[in-house]
Parts: sequence; structure tokens; C-alpha cells
Amino acid sequence: MTFAIGIDVGGTNSKLAVVTRDHRIQSQRSIPTQPHRGPDAVIDDLARAAHGLLQGPITGVGLASPGPLDLRRGTITRAANLPGWLDVPIRDKLAEKLGLSVVLENDANAAAYGEYVAGGGVGCEHLVVLTLGTGVGSGVIVNGRILHGHFDNAGELGHMIVVVDGLPCPCGQRGCLERYSSADAIVRRACHAAGGNAEAPRRENAETGDSEPDGERNAPGAGATAPSPSPRSAADVALAAADGNATCAQVWDEACKYLAVACVNIQHAYNPQRILLAGGLSLAGAALLDPVRRHLRAQGWSLHDDLPEVALATCGSDAGVIGAAALAFESQK
Ligand SMILES: [Zn+2]
Repeated sequence: MTFAIGIDVGGTNSKLAVVTRDHRIQSQRSIPTQPHRGPDAVIDDLARAAHGLLQGPITGVGLASPGPLDLRRGTITRAANLPGWLDVPIRDKLAEKLGLSVVLENDANAAAYGEYVAGGGVGCEHLVVLTLGTGVGSGVIVNGRILHGHFDNAGELGHMIVVVDGLPCPCGQRGCLERYSSADAIVRRACHAAGGNAEAPRRENAETGDSEPDGERNAPGAGATAPSPSPRSAADVALAAADGNATCAQVWDEACKYLAVACVNIQHAYNPQRILLAGGLSLAGAALLDPVRRHLRAQGWSLHDDLPEVALATCGSDAGVIGAAALAFESQK
């Protein structure tokens, strides 16, 4: 039996796994990433950890990394959560240290591929995965292949504009999906609302798209000084909403509505069979899925009966290493 190693590089921890050709994880470990020590030290750590996992014949390595990446050159161009990393030739450096071929892929794309080969997207040749966490990561599968685009940046759906002139985003746009529907955004908006008018959490922004007068007040940590209730996690917001807290219920429902808007736009762009919701927020289960489906039905078109199914991802935090390993096998064909 041959194996591939899947590596998922995160800003805090990196995960490595030995995976079979039929996508079963044989062994795995997690190591701290420590990006402040510089790319060479981190690549050394990854190589050492991969060596520790070697067992039996390894066909190759799949490396899932935060982007933007230059896939042709195998470099990390500039990763937001790996400060100071510019134009790092991580693919070739790791290949040299391991003596194995390495395939580089964007982490969100690798996770989507993992769901496609072994999770909630099995059998869906056209699939979109939205990972709802700190931001909104995404991967698009078209005809069973990851869609990369001209500059390898296709499918950055977290920065799809869902509110014209909406909340400012660090990316430079306004009204990006991840300013409303990521786990962090939900906490920020609920805290902000709790600190202002608890009964009307910036409804004017959400409903009319009016620009927020002071986006920075909405920055992480703004809720720390807000009077109670000031939720610490998106799960707190979901619980409070279920308990009848009107503010939290409204923030949660708006997050679901904008996700549904994104799903409508995704339908028109890619016509996927299924859209999977992954990441920390997806742990809310039916509390997330039901309102997103309801808003999708309310806002989707009626010309064709081809709205995508919206479902939960099933690979959890293993999606990245499973997808990366699958890509390593694919590259050997
Ligand atoms: Zn943005």
C-alpha cells in the first residue's frame, strides 16, 4: 500500500497526516507553526515532523498553505497570517529536504478538495465549500477540478460583496461576505449591538447598505468594553439567539441571510450541485443550516429549479490534509 503525506500549514499550528489512496488517515500529528522564526525554520520543522510520520512507501506530499500563492512557481506570495513571509519558495524547499515531490495548494482549496473526495461533497463534480471561521475561506470545484483562475485567486468568495457600500473590510472593499457571516464578524456585530442599542443592532446598515460611520468601532476587541451581554464566541450568539435574545437573534439571522445571498450569487457563477458550510460556525448545525436554506428559498430565482443543496461539511479539521494528500496522489498519475 502506498501513502501520501498531507500537510496543512496554519498561522498557529500545522497539521500533518499520512493518508491512504482511498483517503483514510493512518496517522497524524500537529506542530506549532511559529511563523515569527522565519520561513526556513518553519520549513525545517515541517520536514522533521513529516520524517517522523514516514511509514511504508510515500508517493508524495501535498502541502496546503495560506495564500496568496503562485502555484506555477510554488511560492507563498504573501500570507496574511504568516507575517513577513514574502515570495517564499516553500514547495521546492520542502521537496529538497524530504526528497519527495511536493504539490502546493491554497489551504481553502485543499479543504474543499478533501470534502469532494472524502466528505460531504462526494459525488458532486460541481461543488463549493465555504469555511466560516475567523474569515470566510472558500474553494470551488468545477468538473471535479479545483478552479484556480488566471492568478490562482479564483473563488475568494469571502470577499464577494453582499452589501453595496457596506462595512469596510481590511481587503479594501466594502460589504464583503466575511464582514457579516464569519464567526468573528458575528461576535463583533453582536458585541457592537449590545454596546449600542440592544434592540436594533445596526439594522440600518444591514438592511439598506448604508456605510457604517466608524468601521473601526467594529474592530475585534470592541466588544470587550460593551455592557452585558457581550458574547465571546459565535456559539454564544447562537445560544443567546435561541434563548430569545432579540439582538443576537437579529445578528445571527442577518449572517444567515447574507450567506444565502452569497449562495444565490454562487449559483449564478458556478451552478454547483451542492454548497457545503464548514469551519467553526458550521458546528451550529441546524441553527445555521435551516435559516440559510430558508433565506435561499426566499431570495433564489424561480426560472429554473436548480438551486444548490446547502449542507454541512463532514471532514472537520481533517479536510485540508485529506485534500492535500489526494492532490499528491493525483499529481502522480
Ligand atoms: Zn474583503
